[in-house]
Amino acid sequence: MSGAEPCRGQCMCGAVRLTMPEPTNGYRACACDMCRRLTGSQFYSLWTAWSTVGIEGAEHVRNFPSSDWAERGFCGTCGSVLWYRPTDGRDAVGLSLGLFEIDTAINFAEQFYADKPICTLVRGLPATSMTEAETEAHFGAGT
Ligand SMILES: [Zn+2]
Ligand SMILES: [Zn+2]
Repeated sequence: MSGAEPCRGQCMCGAVRLTMPEPTNGYRACACDMCRRLTGSQFYSLWTAWSTVGIEGAEHVRNFPSSDWAERGFCGTCGSVLWYRPTDGRDAVGLSLGLFEIDTAINFAEQFYADKPICTLVRGLPATSMTEAETEAHFGAGT
């Protein structure tokens, strides 16, 4: 990944495609009650300026006002979590980490609400761990 090339991502169904500049400030996780319920675990995000984000398929995006100061973007077709975006006028957005194809290691910069029970629940190594090939052989192709 070179600095000039944008980082590309998409929702599960592909109706919404996003680009952002190469993430250089690491990723963040939030385990607050809203993020936990929204994502099923924690909200992992890449923060950048909202004005640098490219959106294809914007007509499929839905926004949920989760507070007086932020909204949650999601794909209205498949439900993928797209972003947390402050609505107070700041040029900022936390894009959902898992949307993006990133094959280089990036820094786990910050975790918020780290004392929430979900953070303890998901720590540690699993009893069984399968690769992509092993998982698809176990369940049949596709998930
Ligand atoms: Zn979608
Ligand atoms: Zn949160």
